[in-house]
Amino acid sequence: MILFSVKPMALKNGLKLLSIQKKLFSIRKKLSIAYGYPKPWKMPPIDALIAVILSQNTSDHNSMKAFEKLKKKYPNWKKILAAKESEIAKTILEGGLANIKAKRIKTVLLQIVEKTGKLDLQFLSNYSAKDAREYLMQFSGVGPKSAAVVVAFAFEKPAFPVDTHIFRVLKRIPLIPQNTSYENAHELMEEMCPDALKIPLHAEIIAHGRKICKAQNPICSKCVIKKECARVGVVKSS
Ligand code: SF4
Repeated sequence: MILFSVKPMALKNGLKLLSIQKKLFSIRKKLSIAYGYPKPWKMPPIDALIAVILSQNTSDHNSMKAFEKLKKKYPNWKKILAAKESEIAKTILEGGLANIKAKRIKTVLLQIVEKTGKLDLQFLSNYSAKDAREYLMQFSGVGPKSAAVVVAFAFEKPAFPVDTHIFRVLKRIPLIPQNTSYENAHELMEEMCPDALKIPLHAEIIAHGRKICKAQNPICSKCVIKKECARVGVVKSS
């Protein structure tokens, strides 16, 4: 009788995954006490997609202002399909990179209509989180982060969008190798992070990155997860 059929490498990887997951649970517990789970907003899928395009390379404050102005001018997103890109760009000026984002928004909306026959992504609620992410990534300008944001916040399905704060914190702890790209960081977190933790941990690490684990001079002395962190690459901290 074979009592032990798992190959040594598979066992090693399995144990490594278990130890990372244990660490993720511990980090989540401490961060949720510190930040009280800043529950993310819920939006219809097309709104979430537009909001995440507007959020690229700008602050939340500016991108939300741009989103509000766009929504006010085009309360029905179908009107964007007929609008000139220059008009859309003028409306979202505050969000930065207005010409690029206007083109991206119009292109993605046109592609959705071409592909599905309507401007609606609600049908993705019947997809698994992975299938929904993959479906969204076929549209131009929709990368792993944008797809994960829509899946997590429009459908409340388990997905782990990696933004600049999360990317930094994950590398400092480290939970991902130093040479990991943004795209691979998404793949790794999708695989390693238990589904139940994905959305809350995403929100809590962002809060932690903004308040404590800042890009310059992180406040390690006040960090609630310092025991879990090797502070890789941190040259100056307070
Ligand atoms: S110990 Fe410092 S580097 Fe590590 S997570 Fe905390 S603030 Fe960031």
